[in-house]
Amino acid sequence: MIDNQDTIAAVSTPQGRGALGIVRMSGPKAISIARRIFSPKGKKDVLSISSFTLNYGWVKTNGSVIDEALLSVMRAPKTYTREDIVEISLHGGMVSLQKVLELCIRNGARLAEPGEFTKRAFMNGRIDLAQAEAVCDIVNARSQCSHRAAVQQLVGHLSNRIGRIRDDMAEILAELETAVDFPEEGIQFDSREEILRKVGHIRGECEAILATFETGRIYKEGLTVVIAGRPNVGKSSLINAMLRENRAIVTEIPGTTRDIISEEVEIKGLKVNLMDTAGIGEAKDKIDAIGIQKTMDSIESSDLVLIVVDLSEGISDDDKQIVTCIRDKKSIIIANKKDLPHKVREEEIGNALGKDIPIIKTSALLGEGIEEIEDLIYRMFIQEGISEKESPVITNLRHKEALQNLREALLKAERATKHGMSEEFIACDIRDALRHIGEITGQTTTEGILDIIFSKFCIGK
Ligand code: GDP
Repeated sequence: MIDNQDTIAAVSTPQGRGALGIVRMSGPKAISIARRIFSPKGKKDVLSISSFTLNYGWVKTNGSVIDEALLSVMRAPKTYTREDIVEISLHGGMVSLQKVLELCIRNGARLAEPGEFTKRAFMNGRIDLAQAEAVCDIVNARSQCSHRAAVQQLVGHLSNRIGRIRDDMAEILAELETAVDFPEEGIQFDSREEILRKVGHIRGECEAILATFETGRIYKEGLTVVIAGRPNVGKSSLINAMLRENRAIVTEIPGTTRDIISEEVEIKGLKVNLMDTAGIGEAKDKIDAIGIQKTMDSIESSDLVLIVVDLSEGISDDDKQIVTCIRDKKSIIIANKKDLPHKVREEEIGNALGKDIPIIKTSALLGEGIEEIEDLIYRMFIQEGISEKESPVITNLRHKEALQNLREALLKAERATKHGMSEEFIACDIRDALRHIGEITGQTTTEGILDIIFSKFCIGK
């Protein structure tokens, strides 16, 4: 437990009007400060209030009431920060909240820095760094998938797996260090092959976690899906059908969508950023040319392209050119206007545009085929089962980098073992590996890095 002499205070609910607002304090003086500013109903003394109880009363200054409130008292060590915590629940106006916060500060608290409550939970050993980061991710989650990944991290899926890897490495290190310290004592050590096998096994574990980052990134940030196709094939109508509302402008004049319209939808809990683009075709004027360039740029940075073609018109050279522009991007052909007489059959589309690209027939006008598109998008990017039970999915670039460094250190240890180098050298690489894995859970993270991590939190968290 670190010795935090000061007591911190912050408004923990969002700025602005709300039905309720909470001022939170944590630290050794939290309860005594609450006693000075809060008058409980009846003759109760705040100092003798039991832990984890809600108490009705008024916040007062110099005898005048600031607001009617509920005070919750949580006594150390079984609290969020492992320190004494009080929360004062007020009517949600900013004036009440600011006044009560000022009162806390006037009576001896200090304004909390962003994430400082959670930082104390970490510093006091209640959660590790990966779990603290998960708290921030839960607050910022904008889709079911990002929320689920963050909750899994908070409950400890990643921390537990990392903990097991760390224990295995510590065991190898202990062996190696004993071999260095007592070379002639006749103790039975692991053979070189055994060390190699163990280190290789750990590297495999590390690589398996690293491989989840792509899915993790999609969980956290969502997918960017570009809708491309020549003018008038039904791109705007498709985006409207996927949004299930009318946002993009649909007209019969080709080339209406000159700018890129970007909309967010959730597909099976996954955040998807849909981008309706200008048609890729011959630019008739300067604005057209800019639009086409923008389309090309957004295709470049997207995760998936929906290539829309018109079944009632068949496949043209422009359609083929679009597919050429998209090259190796993941894509789906949306054969639209299936409600009209077809000029082209499905296999002809495949022959013309590429047999490997999946085709889905739709009528954007009637909203048909939309669920098939959604199912396929989900299946293309989310490996079933990856989010299940104990297997962690990493979503954080910092964790990915630490795991990459860990893998490098393990590879070095394997090379040193293979080349018959002394135990001392191998131990040095394993120590390096332990330092990198400790960065994920926070055992070996520097103060500077911690400051950067917690500065991303909101005040009061
Ligand atoms: P964009 O230029 O590719 O964005 O195409 P729009 O979405 O603006 O659609 C062009 C025209 O095709 C409009 O008149 C739409 O109503 C019509 N359209 C779009 N999708 C369909 C469809 O599935 N069936 C039919 N019959 N018409 C459609």
